[in-house]
Amino acid sequence: MTSTHHRLVIIGTGPAGYTAAIYASRAGLEPLVFEGSQPGGQLTITTEVENFPGFTTGISGPVLMEEMREQALRFGTKLRSETVEKVDLKCRPFRLTTNVGEYTTEAIIIATGASAKWLGLGKDLELSRHGGGVSACATCDGFFFRGMEIAVVGGGDTALEEALYLTKFATKVHLIHRRDSFRASKAMQVRTLAHEKIKLHWNKEITHLQTIRTENSFGEAVEKLSSLILKDTVDGGLSSLSVKGLFVAIGHQPNTSLFEDQLPLDPSGYVLVEKGSSRTIIPGVFAAGDVADHTYRQAITAAGSGCMAAIDAERWLGEQG
Ligand code: FAD
Repeated sequence: MTSTHHRLVIIGTGPAGYTAAIYASRAGLEPLVFEGSQPGGQLTITTEVENFPGFTTGISGPVLMEEMREQALRFGTKLRSETVEKVDLKCRPFRLTTNVGEYTTEAIIIATGASAKWLGLGKDLELSRHGGGVSACATCDGFFFRGMEIAVVGGGDTALEEALYLTKFATKVHLIHRRDSFRASKAMQVRTLAHEKIKLHWNKEITHLQTIRTENSFGEAVEKLSSLILKDTVDGGLSSLSVKGLFVAIGHQPNTSLFEDQLPLDPSGYVLVEKGSSRTIIPGVFAAGDVADHTYRQAITAAGSGCMAAIDAERWLGEQG
């Protein structure tokens, strides 16, 4: 197999990868960008994005990502529908193997994103894709549940944070946890337990998502969440809980398996970058977006860090002569 050499390779085409590609292309670096198995990234599986600046009435996730793609192509980005299967960051130039070919590069921007962990009930992922009432992001979707009764599942800091945040919109937030105590910090627990809109359901597991057929705002028939079936983890008893929304807050999985033995990762598997930059411990390797961010996980922060990574990469390549 022959390999081609590039100055900069970007892995991933979510908001971080495309933004990095736009900046790097405009800087004349002619980046080679690998799309992976989800071209356009996580936003391609959502309907409305209402919080990306510049779109007063919101924009559909897939349309936003198509616009970013076109913008990157306009400046000369080279896109490949390939998935990176192996990287070698121990040699110079760096080596990458995809499902199609082999490549060498002087610098790499890792923008492989992260995936929400789902309950594995079959329907939760499907319902999250078309506004069916299931979400893994309160900041993104909380606003859609104004005046409704909803549930959050999880017991860590994120779950409690999401529950507290959602009290701004929902009439009631049911917090479902399969144990009888939280893993979250004490301060977060105190705030959650004291909140009048939050009802706790200890020792409960969700076993089924029940749905109804209805119409969305475009007049299309869609399936929407109507209630949850809960199982008591102590006595096995079943109960039903009527809610219009479910926020799954049981964690995220950064897409970093490729880098496990190549780069230092934090205990949750996120790529570690130098504070305030996109630089990893390896000179010439940069990371942007959700793959290095377990705090914000937003399209705009991913795009912002993609910009930082392109500028960091351009400066680093410039210093190499
Ligand atoms: P991602 O979008 O995750 O993209 C990762 C990219 O890396 C993909 O193209 C993938 O194919 C590629 N990749 C991964 N592994 C490889 C590999 N080995 N080789 C090649 N390519 C690879 N945020 C908001 O700001 N507003 C919202 O309204 C909003 N709604 C959301 C709704 C849903 C259903 C979801 C799931 C997320 C939502 N988010 C929202 C969060 C937002 O989508 C993410 O924060 C953002 O997409 C992160 O961008 P990213 O570029 O870091 O990674």
